[in-house]
Amino acid sequence: VQWSAEQGWHQAEIVPYAPMLIDPAMVGLHYGQVVFEGLKAYRQPDGSVAAFRAVDHARRFQRSATRLAMPEPPVELFLDALAELVAADRRWVPEDDTKSLYLRPILYATDPSLALRPGTRYRLLVLAMVTETFFGEGAPPVSVWASTRYARAARGGTGEAKCAGNYAGGFVAQVEAVEHGCRQVVWLDAAEHTWVEEMGGMNIFFGYGDHLVTPPLSGTLLPGITRSSVLTLATELGMTVEERMLSLAQWRADCASHAMTEAFACGTAAVITPVGHVAAESGEFRIGDGRPGPAAARLRTALVGVQRGRVPDRHGWRHELAGP
Ligand code: PMP
Repeated sequence: VQWSAEQGWHQAEIVPYAPMLIDPAMVGLHYGQVVFEGLKAYRQPDGSVAAFRAVDHARRFQRSATRLAMPEPPVELFLDALAELVAADRRWVPEDDTKSLYLRPILYATDPSLALRPGTRYRLLVLAMVTETFFGEGAPPVSVWASTRYARAARGGTGEAKCAGNYAGGFVAQVEAVEHGCRQVVWLDAAEHTWVEEMGGMNIFFGYGDHLVTPPLSGTLLPGITRSSVLTLATELGMTVEERMLSLAQWRADCASHAMTEAFACGTAAVITPVGHVAAESGEFRIGDGRPGPAAARLRTALVGVQRGRVPDRHGWRHELAGP
């Protein structure tokens, strides 16, 4: 789908996956005027195909676009694009319970211009690809590296938007994490390098028995759709939830005293993934007994149940893309 001021959204088409030609001076390439989404479609027991919280992803896509001075793609356009893509070939959507169809809408400025101002022409693409569960069920907890050298997002920056540049700026810390034997980065706030915010592509929760704590949406972290789902499901499962800031030092202290029993990350790709070990310049520590915690396991079952149509959809989270 293309956008220009004269024509609005036009030229919707489905094309086979293939390399594309771009202008070497494309605004999106030079200045990173690029936003994207990531959501999953699941085969349902009756054979239909449903995307998880597609309307919420469409709305976040709009907010990201607005933050980067781009036109807002209408929610209906976003949803129709997903449905038409799935309808083009239903065989894409795996039957296998460990797989799903990952959908990646992306919007970028296509103008050939090196001028430092927003584009006037845009392209919206949706890519579809079959994915395995990123961190499979029963996988060992991940280790995380708390970066104090780099920061992801400052107040007033683009931390709340799902824009390409946020990830480009984080890769150097991901490399640092791997050098320290960790799989993921956990980001601290940019101002004080003190408060835990989120992970590279996931939000984070801390478990104190049946009480969960997660950092508040301060404007510098991505408002995860999975995070929001976990807050709802945890309450339904009888857990208590609290959105409050936690410092790296307190995290360590709460693990040393065994008050914190587990931690987990959540996101579209990661679903719910236990975090077992934290490393930082200031030293390392283990969370709980280093094994997946019970709250993460219960939440994962509840979440996957809704996504794959095994339990009733009490919140209208399943969005049908194709009938049975
Ligand atoms: N934080 C970041 C930085 C992310 O990239 C993602 C993945 N979109 C998340 C959190 C989790 O968001 P969601 O649950 O909507 O996938």
